[in-house]
Amino acid sequence: MASVAIEKVSKVFRGRRDEVRAVDDLSLSAADGEFLVLVGPSGCGKSTTLRLVAGLERPNCGVIRINDRDVAKVAPKDRDVAMVFQDYALYPHMTVYKNMAFGLKMRKTPRGEIDRQVRETAELLGLTELLERRPGQLSGGEQQRVAVGRAIVRKPNVFLFDEPLSNLDAKLRLELRAQIKALHRRLQTTILYVTHDQQEAMALGDRVVVMNEGRARQIDAPQRVYDRPDDRFVAEFIGAPTMNLVRGRIVKDGDIVVFDGDFGRWGLSGEVAAALGGLEDCAVELGVRASDVSLGEGGAMSGTGQVCLVESLGDCLHVHVRAKSGATVVLRASSGVSVEVDQEVSMVVEVARVHFFAGDEVGARLC
Ligand code: ATP
Repeated sequence: MASVAIEKVSKVFRGRRDEVRAVDDLSLSAADGEFLVLVGPSGCGKSTTLRLVAGLERPNCGVIRINDRDVAKVAPKDRDVAMVFQDYALYPHMTVYKNMAFGLKMRKTPRGEIDRQVRETAELLGLTELLERRPGQLSGGEQQRVAVGRAIVRKPNVFLFDEPLSNLDAKLRLELRAQIKALHRRLQTTILYVTHDQQEAMALGDRVVVMNEGRARQIDAPQRVYDRPDDRFVAEFIGAPTMNLVRGRIVKDGDIVVFDGDFGRWGLSGEVAAALGGLEDCAVELGVRASDVSLGEGGAMSGTGQVCLVESLGDCLHVHVRAKSGATVVLRASSGVSVEVDQEVSMVVEVARVHFFAGDEVGARLC
């Protein structure tokens, strides 16, 4: 097992006419045995980061350490990492057994030892019955399990998973996600796992790295990222539906600090007022999750609007409410509630669950 550290690493791809800064001054680390998930939108540099750790790309600057050792001069095959790709990359002419045994055979592992490790791993992943089949005779989920198995038999120091579940249907994704989590609990091997699916990231990671434009925007435990996003990008990327953001300004109304926004004037009290009191007349954005807004009246933060969309999700409704200004908030209501498009409704925001972000481009958390 091993720790992985990326220190101030950048990777620029230079074309004839332009250049792409795929990874930009990135620093992160995974402790020995940690399951670290890199999540972010398409093109934010997740795969490039994994490829840098694997040694398939060279950084323009910065240091990558595996087990505290700078691996700049270590060839990919000597880094003792195993990578599992999105497209499985199995050898089509080989059986499952031979696919799984291939890496060990290349390393000249004795035949008896190969057989023991392949069968043990196949048992672990429920592949024993499939060992004599070829990849073309397997379902997508089975092929993906073989790809994982092929990585596991090598007993590497670090696993690098690059969107391993993205080719699978929703049900299989959930099944394999649970298997990968259980596998990590059993093997306790360090894992760097890339996905663009925020729910997958939250479910799998001991910690989550939220990336955008080659940079880490926040590195934290999943619940912390959800409960206290460091900036507006993280707030909008993590959680479904995406966090509501209401534009407004901080103003003083006598002695009271007020958020003057799209749904009215909401008085702020205690710590929030103290934190925002100095920002008088500044543009800010109030963030609140759909689960923290409900239909009803009263409270320090309430407003009215017109229902513009109702989505029934079985166990709850997502109700989209539009203010006169055109701004929209999505709230969660229980599935039994009767609410229709065009209806005028009142809604209440749970005061203790709101977030404030700066109204500028970065949108850093204010409180
Ligand atoms: P996705 O989720 O779509 O796979 P990603 O977050 O993994 O995206 P990367 O594959 O790391 O993103 O790519 C980051 C950026 O670098 C993208 O703009 C991509 O087009 C660019 N890029 C990646 N590899 C190369 C390459 N070999 N040459 C030129 N540009 C590249």
